[in-house]
Amino acid sequence: MTNDERSDTSPESLYEKGMECMKGSVSDHARAVDYLNAASKTGYIPAMRELGLMYLNGMGVDRDYNRAFDLLSEAAGSMDPHSMYGLASMHEKGLGIDKDLYKALRFFAFAANMGIFGAEMDADRVEELIRTDRRNKLKARPVLNLEISDVDIEAACCKLMLDNALNDTIYVIETYQGPELVSEDEDGFEVVLEKCPFCGKKVKRVLRNKKY
Ligand SMILES: [Zn+2]
Repeated sequence: MTNDERSDTSPESLYEKGMECMKGSVSDHARAVDYLNAASKTGYIPAMRELGLMYLNGMGVDRDYNRAFDLLSEAAGSMDPHSMYGLASMHEKGLGIDKDLYKALRFFAFAANMGIFGAEMDADRVEELIRTDRRNKLKARPVLNLEISDVDIEAACCKLMLDNALNDTIYVIETYQGPELVSEDEDGFEVVLEKCPFCGKKVKRVLRNKKY
């Protein structure tokens, strides 16, 4: 085998050919899928991303959210920002997976940090949806116990805690030790709260889907 022939079947070369086919008519898209499939089987991340997005959008192939999710997850695991953006959309809309706005927010934020245009606006939009959900949820639940899940405050123990939770001045963050309830001190540093600073109730951890 000469060097030229070898490079023809390299993942990079298969990927390039696939992308070239994508520029053609719709009938060329199916050929693009073949090339990208061959390249992605070698673990070539750009091919996994493109193929994942094609399955997500039903371009050149029948739409297949499971395939899209697997391919994009693997590429996102290698910090591919476009794959993270695709995954964020799947989590936000619940395409083939359970809808999860917190995961959507995390992936949009990653993608934004890595320079994907528009991702920051998406992150802001999803954050606002989460905020609205949280407010509605907290107002509808008994003010009795201070409960947090792996992602958010689930219930407030007293009126002052409720007000702070509604104003986002006390909130849940992910730390290296897991989720913690925090507030900010006067210098703006986050301080972990083990109990309510107003009524003294201890923070309890509950499942995200706890019924009240
Ligand atoms: Zn309290």
